[in-house]
Amino acid sequence: MAHVITAICTREGDCVEVCPVDCIIPGPTADGEWNDLFFIDPDTCIDCGACVPVCPPEAIFPEEDVPEMYQEDIERNANFFSSGPSYWDYDLEKERATYKGKLK
Ligand code: SF4
Ligand code: SF4
Repeated sequence: MAHVITAICTREGDCVEVCPVDCIIPGPTADGEWNDLFFIDPDTCIDCGACVPVCPPEAIFPEEDVPEMYQEDIERNANFFSSGPSYWDYDLEKERATYKGKLK
């Protein structure tokens, strides 16, 4: 099990600052496929729950509690690390400033 970031994410970046195992990574702003959300590495997340209360739009859920309409985000978080950009050297301030609604 792991925690999952859903499509509710507005790229605030607060979760990154509290994760004790640094397993939350932003989709690169310049990458059209992944730039709408931040993602949690399910293989590294220790389910501590620290990211949940700091997320302004309440976008993070334990995997077993992900709402039905966001179920596909479970696989999307995992795919970001297995076949997407995965861990990369990002500038959090730059990535968090780019709210998905402003990218379009
Ligand atoms: S704190 Fe919430 S909205 Fe901000 S990046 Fe993390 S999951 Fe997305
Ligand atoms: S539950 Fe804990 S370990 Fe998992 S992503 Fe959130 S802060 Fe990180």
